[in-house]
Amino acid sequence: MGMEQGAPQEVHIPGAYITDEVMRIVLERQCHRCAGCNAPLTAGSTHFDLRQPVIRGGAHTIGNFQALCPFCHRNLMRRFRDRFARMNRP
Ligand SMILES: [Zn+2]
Repeated sequence: MGMEQGAPQEVHIPGAYITDEVMRIVLERQCHRCAGCNAPLTAGSTHFDLRQPVIRGGAHTIGNFQALCPFCHRNLMRRFRDRFARMNRP
């Protein structure tokens, strides 16, 4: 315990930072489709995330946001987590 600081402000859904306006713009830019698999996105099942994570220099800008379906979002999170797990291994 206490050593789990590998992924600081990690790939957390920046729900606190994204506004309705930004969500609308991102969705419109993607024609209301998932950035990962192109599936149509519905209001209740859309996840917003950063293409370039904050820990890698990504900013909370409209251009850096993307909308994903729950499936792609989970895959993305898992990929980042795996990468961190590997990086932190001695
Ligand atoms: Zn998807």
